[in-house]
Amino acid sequence: MRVDSGVDSAATAVRPAPGEELSEAVGEAVGEAVELLAGRPLVGLTGAGLSTDSGIPDYRGPGSPRATPMTFDQFRSGEQARRRYWARSHVGWARMRHAEPNAGHRALAELERAGRLRGLITQNVDGLHRAAGHRAVVELHGRLADVICLDCRRRGDRGELQRRLAELNPGFAEAHGDEVASAPDGDARLESVDGFRLADCPVCGGVLKPHVVFFGENVPPERVALCYAMVDGLVPESGRPGALLVAGSSLTVQSGLRFVRRAHRLGVPVVIVNRGWTRGDEFATVKVDGGCSEVLTALART
Ligand SMILES: [Zn+2]
Repeated sequence: MRVDSGVDSAATAVRPAPGEELSEAVGEAVGEAVELLAGRPLVGLTGAGLSTDSGIPDYRGPGSPRATPMTFDQFRSGEQARRRYWARSHVGWARMRHAEPNAGHRALAELERAGRLRGLITQNVDGLHRAAGHRAVVELHGRLADVICLDCRRRGDRGELQRRLAELNPGFAEAHGDEVASAPDGDARLESVDGFRLADCPVCGGVLKPHVVFFGENVPPERVALCYAMVDGLVPESGRPGALLVAGSSLTVQSGLRFVRRAHRLGVPVVIVNRGWTRGDEFATVKVDGGCSEVLTALART
């Protein structure tokens, strides 16, 4: 879907690999995106839709399980809520830590290596961009692989906590591994979490929380400022601006949408690659209604 024009370069042929044929409509939109992005420095913004091909379900995409993530206030409300969180997370993490980057992550890492992608902002907490070899990533909502003590602020490693939880709750993850559908935050829906034993901070005995931004929590302001600066950096002193490439986000939360609004306000073209409607569609110069793996692979090849 072409929303705007103002492009001065010739369209480049898109050559999907065998088995990755794009539908005609998607292929046409990809062609427009290629044309628009050619020669421009890029900043990427990615969301859960990018990781679905790695087996991590999206909250909101088509066919996704209905899941409501725990809010920060609920997490802080007491031991029962934390037991629920950590029991589900203990099971979910066992699956998530085995997830591997997919063609979409690899295509973005390739664009970075080629010097075309100057910066990447991700809303994902799965660490898969780094696993794909991406170097400069701002993980807007943190990383599930990190743990923080809410009392002494000591940071820890999730793998180590997982081992402690497994010792405290022998057989729990194995017993529940098949009954659950996990979510992008590593949560897994369990029928019962009774008897699950929590692990406290090994230093102060305080409350441990995954070092990610929960719903109802704010992204640290310095991290937001860094992302705004990346978008602002797409506007040169003279000449045409770079572009913002959004992949796999429905932009339903303000934490990502604000960078799209900023780009639009600055006259920076926005390309959105996502299956289905996004809250940023009105700001998109080109919208590609397709899967991230196929479309990003096609974009990286041109
Ligand atoms: Zn502590």
